[in-house]
Amino acid sequence: MLEARGIESFYGPSQALFGVDLTVAEGAMVALLGRNGMGKTTTIRTICGLMPARGGSLLSFLGKDIRGLPAFRVAQLGVGLVPEGRRCFPNLTVGENLLATARGAGWDMKAVAALFPKLEERRDQSARTLSGGEQQMLAIGRALMTNPRLLILDEATEGLAPVVRQEIWAAIAAVRQRGQSILIVDKNLKDLLPLADACVILEKGHTVWQGRPDDLAADAALQDRYLGV
Ligand code: ATP
Repeated sequence: MLEARGIESFYGPSQALFGVDLTVAEGAMVALLGRNGMGKTTTIRTICGLMPARGGSLLSFLGKDIRGLPAFRVAQLGVGLVPEGRRCFPNLTVGENLLATARGAGWDMKAVAALFPKLEERRDQSARTLSGGEQQMLAIGRALMTNPRLLILDEATEGLAPVVRQEIWAAIAAVRQRGQSILIVDKNLKDLLPLADACVILEKGHTVWQGRPDDLAADAALQDRYLGV
């Protein structure tokens, strides 16, 4: 579904990605891992067309070359992003945030309300009045409302209280159960690895390891080398 080979990306003159390889198969959940500043968010931004892939032998989605496409075109092709920091529309109500991106069939207001009953309770409240956890639910709901072929989640549980974090993980598991293809960045390996089908580890803008979650979970030295603090 998504294939990146040797992707390079820059912030002005400063190179952040030097060769990222990653593949997401249809229906799979892939975890993108690495310590802080290793290029996970930059990889996601590059896939989504929020910054250009310079160099790079390949960046394709559903068989189409998406290098150079603007973000709205990548979104139209079926990439739904839950960005780091949530970025809900603060002046719109919960309902309006969801309606703003509604497209296609499958995920609609009813399905999102069933996934996140709290959003239904807060439907007419402006997004700025929501708690951090509720804003995260809204950001996920908003991306689902686009009925994406690929859902990308960037640090969706970061900064949340443990109980709220578990609610988000339960929702991600439920979305996953519906066969949704997912690319996810998260630091909570304990929650993430049991759900994932494959892992990709980045180090200084390079892909340094790809493999099965079980193998990563069982390899303390590997975790220590690339993910330890
Ligand atoms: P984190 O877990 O902290 O979000 P990350 O793995 O997502 O880390 P990125 O945010 O992609 O890492 O950062 C990759 C590199 O790009 C880092 O060296 C970072 O300093 C640099 N970088 C990120 N954003 C910018 C920016 N706006 N301008 C310049 N350099 C940036």
